[in-house]
Amino acid sequence: MIVCKFGGKATTTQQSLTNILKLKEQNDDRVIFVFSAIGKLNDKDIKLTDLLIEYDKRYKKGKNADLIYDKIIQKFNFLQNLTKTKFNIINEIKKSFIKYKKIKDKNFLISRGEYFTAKIMSHFLNIKFIPAEKCIFFNKNLLNYKKIQKKLKFYLKKYKKIVVPGFYCLTDNKKIKLFSRGGGDVTGAIIAKALNFSVYENWTDVVGVKEINPNLYKNAKQIEQMSYSDMFLMSCYDAKVIHKDCSKLLKCSNTLLKLKSIYDIYASPTYISSKNVKNCSFVVYKKSKDDYLVLVKCNNCLPIIKKFKDKIFFQKKQILKLILKPKCFKRDIIDLYEKLLIEKKSQMC
Ligand code: ASP
Repeated sequence: MIVCKFGGKATTTQQSLTNILKLKEQNDDRVIFVFSAIGKLNDKDIKLTDLLIEYDKRYKKGKNADLIYDKIIQKFNFLQNLTKTKFNIINEIKKSFIKYKKIKDKNFLISRGEYFTAKIMSHFLNIKFIPAEKCIFFNKNLLNYKKIQKKLKFYLKKYKKIVVPGFYCLTDNKKIKLFSRGGGDVTGAIIAKALNFSVYENWTDVVGVKEINPNLYKNAKQIEQMSYSDMFLMSCYDAKVIHKDCSKLLKCSNTLLKLKSIYDIYASPTYISSKNVKNCSFVVYKKSKDDYLVLVKCNNCLPIIKKFKDKIFFQKKQILKLILKPKCFKRDIIDLYEKLLIEKKSQMC
């Protein structure tokens, strides 16, 4: 069985929506569909989740939030138009805002982004909508897998396929708890783990994971296969394709995670599993305070982490070569790394 998770971008274009429908029709093993809140339409646009966060801030400071409210409504109207779903969701949204003003619960308000996105998508796909309040539970600071499994099994038996909003769960005192940002991925992983599903398809706007951040080096090669431990390592740095908790949750599971693009559904994905994968090489980095931490992993060697002051990182390439000296490093990783430095340097000028 397969759980599919769709990122925010998947609900922003006609092409991606058509592809989601195709995916549902192509394979009956796809039984659970998880959605993030509607994403940005372009670089200047604001994400639905950020609008909801802004609304809460303004409301609590006593500032006028009408403009933000209108933008939120526009987002849902946009998705309803795109999906040609006719039911009156705006009324329901209005009721949610009234409830929020009564309970003043930020988490409740923010979670409505995924809740209503998933609800519209459930109408579009003609699949039963099961809110996360009814199937993703948190108990005494831990996920309650027993209850999650029981509820999901019950709904699957009853409806065959279900749509679930990502990014939040219900605590034992009936409060909404949000996962950290990008946490729609976490919902997919929780479901895959609770039901021991063989496949978790994560549909984003990019195909797979690259050996080096493609924003730094556009010809970065795609990683075909990797382990959850390597993915975890990468996601602690600048590889943000998937939420890092997913790898933690699935590292001992039998689930195969496929990172795929909703814009190119037949492109070959990056496969991530609990198996140790040889020949997995990558270079990742992150800025930490005044330093740059660079992590280089090549084939089966242990990763090397080096700390650089900005100056050294950008000006003394030969120092970097030193850390890349060990014979096990492939020439192309060194080339990639040099390109990273050159491109980064030109961005700085
Ligand atoms: N909507 C949430 C966020 O913007 C969660 C997600 O997109 O997965 O962080």
